[in-house]
Amino acid sequence: MSVVPKSAPSVDPSPVSSSPLPPSPRRPVELDESRLREIDAAASALLTEFWKEEGAPLNLAVFTDGAGVQVRERGGRAEPMYAHHGRLLRLDGAPVIEVNRALDPWTRRLVAAHALGHHVLGHLAVPPEIPEHFGSTCQSVIEREATRFALALLLPEAALRRGMEEGWVSVKRLSEGFAMPEACVRERILQIERHCPL
Ligand SMILES: [Zn+2]
Repeated sequence: MSVVPKSAPSVDPSPVSSSPLPPSPRRPVELDESRLREIDAAASALLTEFWKEEGAPLNLAVFTDGAGVQVRERGGRAEPMYAHHGRLLRLDGAPVIEVNRALDPWTRRLVAAHALGHHVLGHLAVPPEIPEHFGSTCQSVIEREATRFALALLLPEAALRRGMEEGWVSVKRLSEGFAMPEACVRERILQIERHCPL
């Protein structure tokens, strides 16, 4: 049985290039299996400690609070010059996540969980977040690691399977149920199928 809903994404065709140079590969080298397991284990540790199985969507604040990370909203009308999706900072030695309040609520959850991933995974010199950091084809290893963590945290496999058993069979319904962008749900289902095929 496959967990991929019928609306699973199709793969975009590679762009046609007239350059004499070979085109860059669209998909970067996959993170290695042992690192993937470390990232998933880091998300599982937070889930085990702080998630009380209240159902979906998961309350991100219990994880940021549990990890001792403060979340602040920036940007929006009050700060129109704030140019980032968000950022992980250290202020007086304490980790702080900034999230741009102008983003939609689901993307704000992704940005905050991704930044929490940078903190939990011990990334150093984390740049401000831009849209490219959240794609599965991002060339930066730390950005892909942080997104992997975010999806493992807010779209845990057990909860996804429970949602499907309760009739959330489309990516759209899962996206609504977990309050996460549809692209994240698609990517997470592909991750689960790739590493834990049924
Ligand atoms: Zn990032």
